[in-house]
Amino acid sequence: MMEYQNTRDYARMCDQEDPLSSFRNRFHLPLDANGQPAVYFAGNSLGLQPKTAAEYVLIELEDWRKLGVEGHVHARHPWMRYHELVAGQSAELVGGLPHEVVVMNSLTVNLHLLMVSFYRPTNSRHKILIEADAFPSDKYAVASQARFHGYDPAESIIELQARPGEASLRTEDILETIRSHGNEIATILVGGVNYYTGQYFDLQAITAEGHNAGCVVGFDLAHAIGNVEIQLHDWDVDFAAWCSYKYLNSGPGGIAGVFVNERHSNDSSLPRFNGWWGHDKETRFAMPDTFKPVGTAEAWQLSNPPILQLASLRASLDMFEEAGFGRLIDKSRKLTGYLEWLVKQIEGVESITPGSPADRGCQLSLRVDGDGRDVFSRLTGSGVICDWREPDVIRVAPVPLYNSFEDVYRFATELKRSMMEAV
Ligand SMILES: *Cc1c(COP(=O)(O)O)cnc(C)c1O
Repeated sequence: MMEYQNTRDYARMCDQEDPLSSFRNRFHLPLDANGQPAVYFAGNSLGLQPKTAAEYVLIELEDWRKLGVEGHVHARHPWMRYHELVAGQSAELVGGLPHEVVVMNSLTVNLHLLMVSFYRPTNSRHKILIEADAFPSDKYAVASQARFHGYDPAESIIELQARPGEASLRTEDILETIRSHGNEIATILVGGVNYYTGQYFDLQAITAEGHNAGCVVGFDLAHAIGNVEIQLHDWDVDFAAWCSYKYLNSGPGGIAGVFVNERHSNDSSLPRFNGWWGHDKETRFAMPDTFKPVGTAEAWQLSNPPILQLASLRASLDMFEEAGFGRLIDKSRKLTGYLEWLVKQIEGVESITPGSPADRGCQLSLRVDGDGRDVFSRLTGSGVICDWREPDVIRVAPVPLYNSFEDVYRFATELKRSMMEAV
């Protein structure tokens, strides 16, 4: 590979050589104040709208209009089985078997539903392990679960802290915590990719160490799915959950997904909250009194799913399939590598995201000297959409499906200018 160069021509040349460059035109890009496409680096918060999303949703609106209830069976994509289409595609992205994945609800709801089954504290083993800087919703969820079971979160939650002066967690420290507290930990629930630092944890090692200590191991893949390579089944992870409006571009509040290892799907000793959509498909409409679970992750489904949300998700997952996830990862590493290289040349900016491509996805979290908020608002003013996290971090995520090398170049140029102009 060529050496990176800090010029617009070089960035444009990379775009010309990029086999995935045409996918950018298949998304609606927000415009900046000059009517030009903004540099959109916020796909880690809300993915852009695929141009096909409206079509996919319109098909379902049309079938509903024409068929009413009969659409469950006679729609072009019968609603009764619609969720199976996206379950299979989602399973590909997390390395699960198709019957280990179900698409339903929203993320925090699913975390709670999964903890009903996978957080079963006893007096000797009631703790939950989570990152200290986990996404707040996850921290609220685990604390409320501990309380729900009659435990004090102050005693039941163990937080993984980075060493003083370090932003990332060291795998050896995570594993050591599991070794030393494992016999008290009921459930490990860590983010796959940490939302704040962008660190991709070693899920395989955490799972193995957790199982060794007798813990149940699950991951929140909100920032991981569609962003990094994951092998939940092969790594023997117990459960996982994610949302789909970040890297999967399903739209604001889009439908979420879960993974339940097939080892657990027929375990009748596991408590679970049930609803009719988790009931055996053959007899569901006989409306029997007794619940008979589907023998797969679908047993965790409660309700019939929102088809319009499934449709917008499918628009994006069809593109993932077409682009090929391996090719997306290749591009992602080049894009983020280029961003990292350019940013290193800007004085007063430091990435707190791991430097090794194996330990991160596309996001870099940049710590800026001086008045970071001022730098951030100048960036926004120049047509860059990214986000600010207190106290001093700008998160930027060049997404391989729709961002270009020229976006990365433009971002670095604007960041440098903003740093110089900021007070
Ligand atoms: C984005 C995100 C959430 C958001 O939760 P919702 O239930 O979708 O609102 C939760 N946890 C993590 C780790 C996230 O990144």
